[in-house]
Amino acid sequence: MTILTVEVVKNYINGKWVESKAKETRDVFNPATGELIAKTPMSTREETLVAIAAAKAAFDRWRATPVFTRVRHLNRIRDAFEENFEELSKILTMEQGKAIDEARGEYRRTIENLECATSVPSLQMGYNTEDISAGIDEMVIKQPLGVFFCVAPFNFPGMVPTWFWPFAIGVGNTYIVKPSEQVPLSQVKQFEIIHELGLPRGVLNMVHGGPEAVNTLIESPDTVGLSFVGSSPVGKLLYKKTGEFGKRAQVQMGAKNFLTVMPDADLERTVPALITSFYGCAGQRCLAGGVLLAVGDIYKPLKEAVVEAAKQYSVGNGLEEGIQMGPLASKRGMENVLGYIEKGVKEGAELILDGRGVEVPGYPGGYFIGPTIFDKVKPEMAIAREEIFGPVIPIIHVKDLDEAIDIIHANPYGNASSVFTSSGKTARDYQYRVKAGNIGINIGVVAPIATFPFSGMKDSFLGDLHGQGQDAVSFFTENKVVVTRWF
Ligand code: NAD
Repeated sequence: MTILTVEVVKNYINGKWVESKAKETRDVFNPATGELIAKTPMSTREETLVAIAAAKAAFDRWRATPVFTRVRHLNRIRDAFEENFEELSKILTMEQGKAIDEARGEYRRTIENLECATSVPSLQMGYNTEDISAGIDEMVIKQPLGVFFCVAPFNFPGMVPTWFWPFAIGVGNTYIVKPSEQVPLSQVKQFEIIHELGLPRGVLNMVHGGPEAVNTLIESPDTVGLSFVGSSPVGKLLYKKTGEFGKRAQVQMGAKNFLTVMPDADLERTVPALITSFYGCAGQRCLAGGVLLAVGDIYKPLKEAVVEAAKQYSVGNGLEEGIQMGPLASKRGMENVLGYIEKGVKEGAELILDGRGVEVPGYPGGYFIGPTIFDKVKPEMAIAREEIFGPVIPIIHVKDLDEAIDIIHANPYGNASSVFTSSGKTARDYQYRVKAGNIGINIGVVAPIATFPFSGMKDSFLGDLHGQGQDAVSFFTENKVVVTRWF
């Protein structure tokens, strides 16, 4: 019998790879095969404190490093990610499951975040006014604050940390990444690349783990702010805790995104957009479609076209070119989605396409669920209210736009929402009225590019400044006002 040993991934602290001494580890599986591929250490308080001390020690020197030198480091990292694009994408698919083209898309966005952060010399500019009184000038300078950290989710293991750290270190802070314990390998690969590039020690660190590491990061007097991306219950908990410790927080959380199709929508172009929204990344996107609201008499032709398109969607190992949908990222995630499908059936929705038990030849151990569709869904059903995070389309038939918006507003989340219509007036009404942070007009996945804030409202976001772009620069700097008079 061969005993397979897999690596316990290492932390990256002060420019060195450090083995964790934590007794507790978490198994990491390839979701397409069910095979064990690594273990994540649940780093201890002491280990996390060492990372914080390293980032703190690096701060003064890094802050005083000329901004163009800091940006040059970002450019080098950007180029190295580009050179390793295919390998990074493959590792991402191997640990997370998404189709290889989706992993490539994620790395394109990752690189764009780095590209955007190289603009900090102009994004960061303060402002000044001469002669606020005779001979007196006033200015605002934006200064870095110290050690920031992020706590990341499992669904975009390559990209999410880059919503934050390139901007944070670009403006002169130092940083600690806490990846999702479920998918640590993408960050390990990124740090292996970064390790070769001469970034000063301690500027960018990585600590693996769970609540103990995160609580230490929040409680330490030597950190200044949290960027969280993950589920709403955890996000709310951490926002409260960060507030108690008097720190900055931007907390991006769960979602239930409503996609509304009006009777005047262009069906041929709408259906592919809906399919990608609901089934892309196997539905594990905070911007994924959550409920399809079919308005008026488009309901029947829309339903038929969506079912037809869903049946054509290919499911398999994401590493195989051409596969459209990979497995769910974990067994637990798959069981959760199966639980929702059962709930939908029990609550009386009509299961018109059942993705359970989908056969993927060659991968009996994978966490696969095929495209699934429920018809005759009521707004009060769990599948219409809660985040399923899987490839399920619940369809609700509504009479008009007002009814659609009432349903949307009754839901606690507000991450994204889209309308499909050929009327400019309807589109404008929708963007004006719907309370969601990202609005799509004939767009199914409203993913803001790096120069725009990654918005979110209601139970989908806590804080005021979002990830990416100018918002990130503001989050990672504080304004200092200087009033000057020279005699
Ligand atoms: P999660 O909340 O389970 O975990 C997120 C992170 O929090 C992980 O790093 C985890 O280790 C840490 N964590 C979990 N419990 C903790 C605790 N008690 N104390 C301290 N830290 C803790 O989320 P997930 O399952 O990894 O990610 C999926 C969720 O993320 C979905 O709800 C999705 O909508 C959301 N998400 C939101 C956005 C957005 O921008 N709004 C983007 C991506 C994902």
